[in-house]
Amino acid sequence: MSMAPTSSVHDDHAKPWETVRRGLLLLVSSPAGAGKTSLSRRLAADYADLILSISATTRPPRPGEEEGREYFFKTREAFMAMAEAGELLEWAEVNGNLYGTPRAPVMATLDAGKDVLFDIDWQGARQVAEKAREDSVRVFVLPPSWSDLSRRLHARAQDGEDIIRQRLELGKREIAHWSEYDYVIVNKDFDRAYADLIHIYRAERMKPGRNPWLPGFVQELEDEA
Ligand code: 5GP
Repeated sequence: MSMAPTSSVHDDHAKPWETVRRGLLLLVSSPAGAGKTSLSRRLAADYADLILSISATTRPPRPGEEEGREYFFKTREAFMAMAEAGELLEWAEVNGNLYGTPRAPVMATLDAGKDVLFDIDWQGARQVAEKAREDSVRVFVLPPSWSDLSRRLHARAQDGEDIIRQRLELGKREIAHWSEYDYVIVNKDFDRAYADLIHIYRAERMKPGRNPWLPGFVQELEDEA
């Protein structure tokens, strides 16, 4: 897959109005095992203007997960203290654990004119979209089949049979919300699904409202004409 990452508007030759950019909130949901995390992390790695939101959670770290990279791991008390202090943009209980989005990094990213990417369940996506409808873009990732989803969860070999069954059950409930989303990707082939996600992101970036520099640019074109 060779698609050039976005060229930042923050380049050395930019005129003042060219640097003005209104950040969007790209919310990606799916049942566990459908590929959402790999797709999201790759997009954030390839696009410098898109910053992955790192959530807080009460779930214990899985092998290989690091504090501040996959999640900020919290006790239930510490998590609830953050929620009560208004430090979370949204939060929800998923499978008995609490997950939430720290507000400050999201605001700082938007203030810097950059976009934020969320790996988030349907409850969180709904809460963020309610708070910032104009700025939110919701993407749902579906597996190509139920057997494929089950196979992917088994292949991860991270969880025992009981946990996998729980995650599949939870997946069914997640999928029930697919129609609340702006876009749906069926992840049959990773490269294809990734190309689809890039297209969604790039097209949404080109909406006039997200580029407040356009009137100045057009004015300059008209003055030159
Ligand atoms: P996991 O435990 O597999 O990492 O994540 C379980 C679920 O929680 C996934 O659907 C994931 O997208 C969701 N999730 C992760 N972070 C957040 C968050 O900050 N808020 C909400 N509402 N869901 C989250």
